[in-house]
Amino acid sequence: METKEAYRALGLDHSASDAELKATWRKLVATWHPDRNPAAEAVQRMQAINKAYQHIRLVREGKLASDAPADSTDSTYGADSPQPEAPAHGSARPQADPQAKPHRPPYVRKVRLSLEEACLGCTRTVRGQFQQTCPTCVGTGQRVLATACPTCRGKGSVRKAVLFGWSWNEEECPDCSGDGRQRAPCEPCESTGTQTVSYRRRVRFPAGTRDGHVLNVPAARHGDLEVDLELAIEIEPHPLFTLDDNGVLRCEMPVNGYAWMTGRWVDVPTPDGLQHMRLNRDALVYRLAGKGFPATSNGPRGDFMVRVTPVFPPLDDPQQAALLDQLIASSTQTAQADDTQALGQWARRLASWQPG
Ligand SMILES: [Zn+2]
Ligand SMILES: [Zn+2]
Repeated sequence: METKEAYRALGLDHSASDAELKATWRKLVATWHPDRNPAAEAVQRMQAINKAYQHIRLVREGKLASDAPADSTDSTYGADSPQPEAPAHGSARPQADPQAKPHRPPYVRKVRLSLEEACLGCTRTVRGQFQQTCPTCVGTGQRVLATACPTCRGKGSVRKAVLFGWSWNEEECPDCSGDGRQRAPCEPCESTGTQTVSYRRRVRFPAGTRDGHVLNVPAARHGDLEVDLELAIEIEPHPLFTLDDNGVLRCEMPVNGYAWMTGRWVDVPTPDGLQHMRLNRDALVYRLAGKGFPATSNGPRGDFMVRVTPVFPPLDDPQQAALLDQLIASSTQTAQADDTQALGQWARRLASWQPG
């Protein structure tokens, strides 16, 4: 029930004081109580009056949000499942239809994506649950019966002795809040006043989804409510890549120094998988065009920047040391014989120099 409707049912508006509210309700109860009113619609009217009164009281006591039944709790994240459901494409929230069924404010929850999923886009099942006010008892945990309250025998008030039994006061019956109707536990909610509503939605996350993005998923019916989901995206830290604030995807990888010197091929991880890349001993930074993160949602992919760190193994392996000695000797010989090379020219200048 909406708060506006509740006031309308009692013929009041928001500005009514608590005393006016109670007085109006008492007057309506006096008119419509089925014990006093034989009309066929009396039971129904009485129920509507009590429901409206309970709703307004709960709102005024802060136990019920004005137009949003109950707060939301919990969120569990479900992994992808092969359940064949039509994917709901994330998009801007559709225009609210004023004739629509009760609509609660969007339910906000976090969704964690891997960097690959965020980069390439993915379809995931999002599921969880939240609490809503029990529609049967409007959050009171009780049902109002058509029978008279046994405590006050339907009068709505009880006598309470005052002045040491010399006199008495009429007080509101504690068991029926003064409406004279019997109460029974509400079964659908087991008297808790709230219901747990589960939701499950297939959601398409576009390529280029960034950390902190909020994805609106159009309403779907859950329990008695139309529920919009607002998914706050969190991207998990990646063991190999980093995404900088400008949306540039980077990777820093160590490479064998000899492989780097000799221009060998290495495997570089990218969001799509491993990619061959040729090392170049004049370069430490490499740009892989179109292998990075999309600059905009569903846009073309940007560049992937790879920085290599050549690593030379320590020379404590005698076999490797011998091979290196061989390599140095043979390359020095070749270089010194070549007059056009820096090493050859240097060797000649050194040989013609007479130290003092
Ligand atoms: Zn209930
Ligand atoms: Zn009573």
